[in-house]
Amino acid sequence: MTRVSTAAAPTFRFDRSATPVEANERAARLVDPGFGRVFTDHMAVIRYTEAEGWHDAKITARAPITVDPSTAVLHYAQEIFEGLKAYRLDDGGTALFRPDANARRFNNSARRLAMPELPEELFLQSCRQLVATERDWFPQIEGGALYLRPFMFASEAFLGVKPSSDYLYMVIASSVGAYWKGGARAVSIWVSQDYTRAAPGGTGEAKCGGNYAASLLAQSEAIRQGCDQVVFLDAVERRWVEELGGMNVFFVFDDGSMVTPPLTGTILPGITRDSIIRIARDQGIEVREELYGIDQWRADAASGRLTEAFACGTAAVVTPIGEVAGVDGRFTIGGGGTGQLTQRMLDALSAIQRGRAADPHGWLQRLD
Ligand SMILES: *Cc1c(COP(=O)(O)O)cnc(C)c1O
Repeated sequence: MTRVSTAAAPTFRFDRSATPVEANERAARLVDPGFGRVFTDHMAVIRYTEAEGWHDAKITARAPITVDPSTAVLHYAQEIFEGLKAYRLDDGGTALFRPDANARRFNNSARRLAMPELPEELFLQSCRQLVATERDWFPQIEGGALYLRPFMFASEAFLGVKPSSDYLYMVIASSVGAYWKGGARAVSIWVSQDYTRAAPGGTGEAKCGGNYAASLLAQSEAIRQGCDQVVFLDAVERRWVEELGGMNVFFVFDDGSMVTPPLTGTILPGITRDSIIRIARDQGIEVREELYGIDQWRADAASGRLTEAFACGTAAVVTPIGEVAGVDGRFTIGGGGTGQLTQRMLDALSAIQRGRAADPHGWLQRLD
C-alpha cells in the first residue's frame, strides 16, 4: 500500500546565506575536493508533524542543527537517506541523473522504517532548487560533480519505542571529485565470514543508516586484512554473494555475459546497478540476475571462466575488483586490473551522465 500525503505541496522559501564562502576560498576547496568533505553554502529543509503533514519547506544557509538529547533518531536509528549526483554538462547546463528513481526508493525506505512518505515532487524540487542555488560549487575537474545527500530522521523528543510523530527532511550538497584517492585502480575485497549485512525480513533493501552502522565492523576487518572493501554473503546459507558495504556487484564471464545477484530483499536496489543492466542489454550483452556462490566465484576465477568483476554505485560509479580475500585464501580476477567490459560500462554510463551520449531512457533531467 502506498501512503502518499495528499496535502498541497508547500512552496520553498529561500533564505540566502549571509556568510557564503568567498569565491577564492571556494576555488581553493574545489581543486581537490575528494569525497564528502567539501560542503556548499545552503541546504534544503522540510518539516513533518503528524498534525500538519509536510510543511515549512525552505532553502536556507547550511548550519548545524540543535536536537534534544532524547530525540528518537539518536536512540532507535529511525533514519533513511539517498545519494545522487548533479553534473555540469559541456554546454554549461546542469542535470540530475535519474532523480525520480531516488525519490521512489526514498519512499520505499520510508515505508520500511515506518516513516511518512515524502511526495515525489517535493523530493525532486528540494534537489533541483538546491542545485540551482549552488551552481558555483561544481568542481571543474575530471569526475567532478555535486553529490546530493537527501535524508530524513525521527525528530520527536520522546524515548517511547514507536514511530516518531515528527520528522526532519534535509538535503545537503557536497562538491566531489573522484571517489577513490589516486584514481580508479582495481580494489581488493574481503569476504566477511563472521558478519552479514542483511537478513530476510530485515532492512537490507532500505537505504537506512542502521545498515551502515552494522557494516562498519566488517569494513574495519577488511582494512585490517589489507583489503579496500568488504563483500557480504547471504545471512542464511553464508554462501551467496550479495553486495559490498555500499555498492552492488557484477561478474563478467569469458563468453561476454554478465551476472549480478537478484533483488531478493536483502540487497539494496542500486540505481547504478539498474542503469548498467539496461546499458549492457542495449548493447546486446546478456545480463542474468542470478545467485552466484563464493565457491563458484573462486573456481571460475581460477579456471578463467570469470574474467572480470566490478562494484558499482553513485559515489564511485564503477570500480573494478582485482582481488578477493577471505578465510579460505586469496584469488585474483583476470589480470587483477580493470577489465575491458568494466571499462566499457564505466565509459558508457559516464557519457550518458555527462550529456555526451544519447540518452535513450531519458535518465538525465536537465535543470537549465
Ligand atoms: C546506495 C547503495 C548502493 C548503490 O546504489 P546507487 O543507487 O547505485 O547509488 C548499493 N548498496 C548499498 C548498501 C547502498 O546503500
